[in-house]
Amino acid sequence: MIIDGKKFAQKLRNKIKKEIQSIKNKTQLTPGLTVILVGNHTPSEIYVRNKELSAKEVGISSKVLRFKSSISETKLISVIHKLNRDKKVHGILVQLPLPNHISGHKIIEEIDPKKDVDGFHAINVGNLSSGKDALVPCTPLGCYLMIKSVRKNLAGLNALIIGRSNLNGKPMAQLLLKEDCTVTIGHSKTKNLKELCKKADIVVAAVGRANLVKGDWVKKGAIVIDVGINRVEKKNGYKIVGDVEFKSVVKKAKAITPVPGGVGPVTIACLLSNTLKAFKNIN
Ligand code: NAP
Repeated sequence: MIIDGKKFAQKLRNKIKKEIQSIKNKTQLTPGLTVILVGNHTPSEIYVRNKELSAKEVGISSKVLRFKSSISETKLISVIHKLNRDKKVHGILVQLPLPNHISGHKIIEEIDPKKDVDGFHAINVGNLSSGKDALVPCTPLGCYLMIKSVRKNLAGLNALIIGRSNLNGKPMAQLLLKEDCTVTIGHSKTKNLKELCKKADIVVAAVGRANLVKGDWVKKGAIVIDVGINRVEKKNGYKIVGDVEFKSVVKKAKAITPVPGGVGPVTIACLLSNTLKAFKNIN
């Protein structure tokens, strides 16, 4: 089974759109998302544009605030404080990376945790780790939903997460622990990654190394989620591949996400879902 991320995301967006329409009919209120973009980093421009288009599609009122890379940290913090007070804004997202003179960590901590739709604020991280309700980072949330669409009961399964970033690996581990999986987190210093992988019923690769996970690493019938986005050169330019060698792993896995067209589109749909959740928590 190849999990089609585009179709999965479309289904999720349709559900969100319906709920937003019903909220609008009942309350005359509209969930609002503001994205802050600093500088002109081309991939960030593309991500932000996709987020804006998807938000509009489901009826979220979305706005992008663009700033020159010379903006000071203090000025950016004052922008965030203003958005925290704005009753029409329910979700605030600061597109990373930020220029070197601005601390991403400091900026994220200034966002009202109730509006932190990226789920990066320490309050949301803490709530997720203590099993409380939280805004969960969009990529691991999307991976989780896709895993659950393949198999509802994950209790007792061995899950290997490769990568321990705050963005992906760590929140992914928390989500699967909550589902009673036995979770192992691999990273660059892990010994015998292949052997650990062979025992895993669920593999989530969030590494950034092209085709790291091969067919002979994967247990037959495993669920394999590929978060990686890697550019590899080809004759006329480049192509995007994941952290999983698709052609060999697809023969072993029960379910697998392709790259592109797997985790990526679902991540954006989860941002919309988080904005709706933030709206409901605030109102
Ligand atoms: P990151 O912060 O660079 O973390 C990478 C993790 O992989 C680290 O924990 C690192 O270990 C580990 N690692 C590196 N080389 C390894 C190896 N050879 N064996 C085992 N582990 C290794 O990356 P990230 O932000 O989590 O992103 C990971 C990938 O996902 C990237 O390709 C990124 O582009 C992609 N991504 C995709 C989406 C999406 O929506 N599809 C969203 C976000 C990110 P150490 O901790 O020891 O350094």
